[in-house]
Amino acid sequence: GSTIGIMGGGQLGRMLSLAAAQLGYRCHVLAPEATSPAGEVSAETTCADYSDSAALAAFAKACDVVTYEWENVPVAPLDCIAGIVPLRPSPRALEVAQSRIDEKRFVTELGGRTAPFGFAETEAEVAAAMAVAGCPAIIKSNRMGYDGKGQARVMPGDDPVARWHEAGGVPAIIEGFVTFEAEFSVILARSPQGEIRFWDSAENVHVGGILDVSTVPASAAIETQVPAARALAAKVAEKLDYVGVLTLEFFATAEGPVFNEMAPRVHNSGHWTIEGAFTSQFENHIRAICGLPLGETALACHAAEMRNLIGEAAHGWPELLGNPANHLHLYGKHRALPGRKMGHVTRITLEPQGVQS
Ligand code: ATP
Ligand code: MG
Ligand code: MG
Repeated sequence: GSTIGIMGGGQLGRMLSLAAAQLGYRCHVLAPEATSPAGEVSAETTCADYSDSAALAAFAKACDVVTYEWENVPVAPLDCIAGIVPLRPSPRALEVAQSRIDEKRFVTELGGRTAPFGFAETEAEVAAAMAVAGCPAIIKSNRMGYDGKGQARVMPGDDPVARWHEAGGVPAIIEGFVTFEAEFSVILARSPQGEIRFWDSAENVHVGGILDVSTVPASAAIETQVPAARALAAKVAEKLDYVGVLTLEFFATAEGPVFNEMAPRVHNSGHWTIEGAFTSQFENHIRAICGLPLGETALACHAAEMRNLIGEAAHGWPELLGNPANHLHLYGKHRALPGRKMGHVTRITLEPQGVQS
């Protein structure tokens, strides 16, 4: 087969589509928007709601394999696709990752360590959840949150119920604040035959709940925790019989890696792999879902630093082209709204004494 269906129209889909094109595939995007960052670089777009079963069935018939670039695609309607064409990764992976409480329980059962957490569906349940989480705490809407949206912090002296309303007043996980040395992610690709490859773990710095910079190699404090984090990520992938790229986010703490959340897809903290690794996360996702041999994930440089271009910060992009070590990626989004990811720039250092800014 030669057409890959991508559910979701964002920048992750755009970069998947570009990687697929390099391997000779055409992509067909299904998204609620008629024009999208992914649709603009793909052969075809179906503009439809994710729960429009007739549109999903027609889309599936036009594709040889279907994947996602957005993990909040409603799971139940995916049955319309699964009977027609392979869906990779499986909807089960989406189901787990769509609910913070389910993903934390899933990982805990596999032996992973998390922040202490409680669950509050109503105002009346907030106090009991706070008792488990301790204070300070973070309230996160159970579903649909990203880039720190749908979150509120509870500091000593705050009214937790008021904060729960600030986080949306919806079913929410309440977790203890983790004192961490640094944050990192484990990104792996798994083939249909069960072969797993890991990229180097990037050290991730967030500003205002949004990823700002990812760096490889990570600091020594992270490197010592990567083996345990990888072992957990492999267990998660195996338990889900996962096919494609999977990401787990961790806090590096004095007690070892603490799992934060997972994403059943390529990840912002892996964008550096386009120039910084032998095979990018995007290409290996395409290879995995198409049943092709996985590519080498080793570093292809001495160091890489990926910086997100968020909102109006993206307007300075022509200047970034002045540094030959910069690799610029713009997502073709038309309005630089505050907090919107407009593009990213990866700076590659080829040798220990390499090109500097
Ligand atoms: P993403 O865009 O990564 O999907 P998200 O909205 O799902 O983000 P989280 O990853 O849960 O949110 O949280 C965003 C950031 O907030 C984390 O990377 C971390 O910096 C901080 N954070 C989240 N939970 C905790 C915690 N329990 N303790 C300390 N810091 C936390
Ligand atoms: Mg998240
Ligand atoms: Mg996160």
